[in-house]
Amino acid sequence: MEAISRLIRIHEQQEEEEREQKKRRRTIWGCNNHIIPATRFSIASLESKESQNNEECSICLDEFSEGEQVTQTPCKHKFHDDCILKWLNGKHFCPMCRFQLPTKVTKDAMNKLILGS
Ligand SMILES: [Zn+2]
Ligand SMILES: [Zn+2]
Repeated sequence: MEAISRLIRIHEQQEEEEREQKKRRRTIWGCNNHIIPATRFSIASLESKESQNNEECSICLDEFSEGEQVTQTPCKHKFHDDCILKWLNGKHFCPMCRFQLPTKVTKDAMNKLILGS
């Protein structure tokens, strides 16, 4: 349930910010109708979390180092940044549970991509 309510919050934010995003897209891509690849923004909307003991990345099956910063999907699955980035290159669902990742842009996500931080 928590994953769902988080997703709903993300969607609410998106509606508010949609107009602003469109303006920005024009600036960034120089084209009104340019469609931003969904996966890039799925990636940018993932959370960075500290790993817990004995958790492993379900893609490469390696255990995380203690306190390592890992990527968490809205469905609470954790992966190495690199692993999930590769996985999401063309897909936008969680490899564990097939949860559909958000494909729209949040303001923060957009800033992250623009500023690269
Ligand atoms: Zn991994
Ligand atoms: Zn999942």
